[in-house]
Amino acid sequence: MSEDALSERKMQFLYALRSRGVTDTSVLNAMEKIDRGAFVRGLFQDRAYEDMPLPIPCGQTISQPSVVGLMTQALRLTGRDKVLEVGTGSGYQAAILSALSRRVYTVDRHRRLVREAREVFDAMNLTNITAFTADGSFGLPDQAPFDRILVTAAAEDPPGPLLAQLKTGGIMVLPVGQSDHVQSLIRVTRTESGFDYDELRPVRFVPLVEGLGKE
Ligand code: SAH
Repeated sequence: MSEDALSERKMQFLYALRSRGVTDTSVLNAMEKIDRGAFVRGLFQDRAYEDMPLPIPCGQTISQPSVVGLMTQALRLTGRDKVLEVGTGSGYQAAILSALSRRVYTVDRHRRLVREAREVFDAMNLTNITAFTADGSFGLPDQAPFDRILVTAAAEDPPGPLLAQLKTGGIMVLPVGQSDHVQSLIRVTRTESGFDYDELRPVRFVPLVEGLGKE
């Protein structure tokens, strides 16, 4: 692709984000800075700047950019947060979080995805992200508690260990519902006395699966 064609596509990319409700300037700046093209390999690479989910290895998907933007916005990051992401996938969402956080831990049940995402983080010099292979439904007890938690795979209910690893005043954003149905994106805020729940919008994510993947 020529330089001109690429910058035209990137402009359309940002326009699509804004028109779908991504209005937070710091989120838009991060999404302008972090190149989604670096996280999409092979056949679909030239569609990286379209507002659509795309296939990645291990039968998973890199989320639709506007959904990445809306989820990031819903987290209300302060720039000083310690964040856990469950579902590294391509690493794109973690990279966006890293631009807006103090520290990001991201886990995926597929070691191949973690390995490939680490390569991109290194190439981009994103030194505040640590990626692990793990079943993220148990969170990351060694690094807990977290200021923010983002889950990018759908569970039927918010997993108990993740609720337990959220600081008081902390926010978790996650899709809930059955995997082959429309799910709801919800925001959970931990208060002194319990948890507040907000329903944000319908979404569709791959399911949160127990245990580690084969590759
Ligand atoms: N955030 C990713 C997209 C994630 S797709 C991106 O920006 O590209 C959802 C991911 O969740 C998949 O990679 C899948 O392997 C992972 N996943 C599903 N169940 C999981 C679990 N229990 N623990 C950790 N990762 C899980």
